Amino acid sequence: MPTKYIIVTGGVLSGLGKGIAVASIGHLLSSRLKIIPIKCDGYLNVDPGTMNPFEHGEVFVLDDGGEVDMDFGHYERFLGISCKSKWNLTMGKVFEMVRQKERRGDYLGKTVQYIPHVTDVIKGHIFEVVREERPDLVLVEIGGTVGDIENELFLEAMRQMKEDVGRGNILYIHLTYVPIPYGVNEQKSKPTQQSVNLLKQRGIFPDIIIGRCSEFLTQEVRAKISNFCDVEPEAVITGLDVEDIYEIPLIFEREGLPEIIHKKLNIYSPPDLRKWKKYLENINNPSGEITVAICGKYTKLADSYASIVESFNHCSAHLKCKVNLRWIETTDVEDTSALQGVDGILVPGGFGVRGTEGKIQVIRHARENHIPFLGLCLGLQLSVIEFARNVCGLEGANSTEMDPDTPHPVIDILPEQRNIKEKGGTMRLGAYKAILKEGSLVHKLYGKKEVYERHRHRYEVNPDYHQILQEKGMLFSGISEDGRLVEFIELPEHPFFVATQAHPELKSRMEKPAPLFFGFVKACMEPAGR
Ligand code: GLN
Repeated sequence: MPTKYIIVTGGVLSGLGKGIAVASIGHLLSSRLKIIPIKCDGYLNVDPGTMNPFEHGEVFVLDDGGEVDMDFGHYERFLGISCKSKWNLTMGKVFEMVRQKERRGDYLGKTVQYIPHVTDVIKGHIFEVVREERPDLVLVEIGGTVGDIENELFLEAMRQMKEDVGRGNILYIHLTYVPIPYGVNEQKSKPTQQSVNLLKQRGIFPDIIIGRCSEFLTQEVRAKISNFCDVEPEAVITGLDVEDIYEIPLIFEREGLPEIIHKKLNIYSPPDLRKWKKYLENINNPSGEITVAICGKYTKLADSYASIVESFNHCSAHLKCKVNLRWIETTDVEDTSALQGVDGILVPGGFGVRGTEGKIQVIRHARENHIPFLGLCLGLQLSVIEFARNVCGLEGANSTEMDPDTPHPVIDILPEQRNIKEKGGTMRLGAYKAILKEGSLVHKLYGKKEVYERHRHRYEVNPDYHQILQEKGMLFSGISEDGRLVEFIELPEHPFFVATQAHPELKSRMEKPAPLFFGFVKACMEPAGR
């Protein structure tokens, strides 16, 4: 069977959940097919690693060290696969490739043009991934909204692609918005019509339209969209607003999306949603609840911590426990009153000095009051600083990232990072092995001695301070294979005080929640002894 392609574009507005829609389509078709998701982003950064989370949400890190768009988090979680950085194609990467080819002389004698040279590079990259991975189905998500200057070249490449792969092997899905204006109280199809017109002007004629709406689409609006946009009525699908993104595959199934895709592409992979439904049932019918404080500095934008939020959902699905998240902006922390009544405290990753003293205060509160604590990356570094200052008596201890002149640089730059000048893609990135200490809590939670978690950092626990930290009661429960880097710490005297230099939230899955989150939520559920 030749590889089939589904191209997903978006219209009307950004933020309609195209990534979730793509991941959900993938989930529905994944029972019998090997699926590779590819995301095309129109920005000129080579990858999102150099962007502030406020700009672009969470930077997702892959096993291979790629820093990619946060939609890859949804793809991995909904498809249960491990993605590769090559599957995220940005315009920054495209132009870099075109420039390299031009300098090498690949275009000798020619004027290098957007069409065909840039579009050929885009298609060539996708076909290379197909040659390498041999998937049954490629799901290509075009970032942004039709009409944006940034994604015009991607759209043109996708238009051309139907000739390259054969019209029977490619299907176009357009995600739009169906508003119900206040006072009118009626679903409106005009934005969808206009958006589809923009797409048609670019030579792409959608086969399926998903209309994001707060209600199921009415027969009238389906008929209207079908008529004006030249799609069959059953190919107009509701993209319902939901509380929980995990419901989207169920909605799409109910709307008959797998059958339409089957009919048009001649691929059959019956959806199997039994387990998924069970998990959702557990999430929606909790038998208990806890409140966890997330103390960070991008807390106004939950997208910055998307994988953390999902990791808690995964725990809820197994433990039948609702996890309420209380977002605390640590730049504003003056005292710890905001932590009143929380069952657990999480300090996530982060960069730069802003908000760090607030976080250190929060960590001290968790340690001294025996409140379950989970520290991720910067969260580990700050718990080491707190411990150094308040338990080891190392006054002014800090990270050289925050205070280059600290008298006690308990956290310092990794030696291999010292001479790195370029900022893009140069951190310690991707999955690294850690060896866990037998008998430690972390070892118990993972249930094995060797673990691979994903990393994204430049600083580490300074080896000069390993001894004093351990003497004063901090257990290094996981270290890198060469013994140099502290990957996991815990405080044996505390009911649950665990931190890691890694980002375990990136590998958490519905079927298998990240062990540290699982242990943390369980500890939060057991207030006995506190
Ligand atoms: N800023 C810290 C470092 O670079 C922590 C990074 C993180 O939390 N991802 O090491």
